[in-house]
Amino acid sequence: MIRENLDAVHGKIRQACERAGRSPEEVTLIAVSKTKPVEMILEAYEAGVRDFGENKVQELMDKIPRLPSDIRWHMIGHLQRNKVKYLVGKVEMIHSVDSLRLAEEISREAVKQGCEVRILIEVNAAGEESKFGVRPEETEALVRAAAALPGIRVCGLMTIAPLTENAEDNRIFFRTLKNLSVDIERKNIDNVHMACLSMGMTGDYETACEEGAAFVRVGTGIFGERSWQTSV
Ligand SMILES: *Cc1c(COP(=O)(O)O)cnc(C)c1O
Repeated sequence: MIRENLDAVHGKIRQACERAGRSPEEVTLIAVSKTKPVEMILEAYEAGVRDFGENKVQELMDKIPRLPSDIRWHMIGHLQRNKVKYLVGKVEMIHSVDSLRLAEEISREAVKQGCEVRILIEVNAAGEESKFGVRPEETEALVRAAAALPGIRVCGLMTIAPLTENAEDNRIFFRTLKNLSVDIERKNIDNVHMACLSMGMTGDYETACEEGAAFVRVGTGIFGERSWQTSV
């Protein structure tokens, strides 16, 4: 089932890119494996997936040693500062940086471990009360401040669009993220390249691809419904 789902998702990404005149190679599919067992992750791995997303540090730490070492793990969930030390050096990218204090902690840990951490700034593009992320108008300031810290590379922006029946409703938020990234890129800030936009989930990843996503984060569409819902 996982292999068939993956084929379908890849096909839809390809078609969305075609509609938008983009190359499908510009989009990386992150299989969001939160709450799913290692057996299912391995099935996706065997079907060719190398990028996986998790939203809980503890779950990530449990899974990493039990799965192939060439998996690129993406931290996509809200991150507390006291957990940063477990992640640094273990993940490909942290998608959910939403405060300077968190960026400072990542920087401190990166310097301590002598590595560089790739991050995205999480933007609350729709201004939802329940969501983490900075407001669009605060984004540039956080990008600038984070980029000035040692051990951090700001690679772009991430957003979690509202839950909706109609993906079209979210196009405006994906566009907001894209426009923000273009504006910030134009400022030529040292140590900042806005190439990566992480946006689009099972319900709206095709729209996100049309609007310039570099990463789409798909869970349910690959692994099926989650039996217990974790907070995002
Ligand atoms: C769970 C989660 C996803 C995947 O959601 P689906 O609707 O199952 O595709 C994507 N991004 C984040 C941040 C998540 O927490």
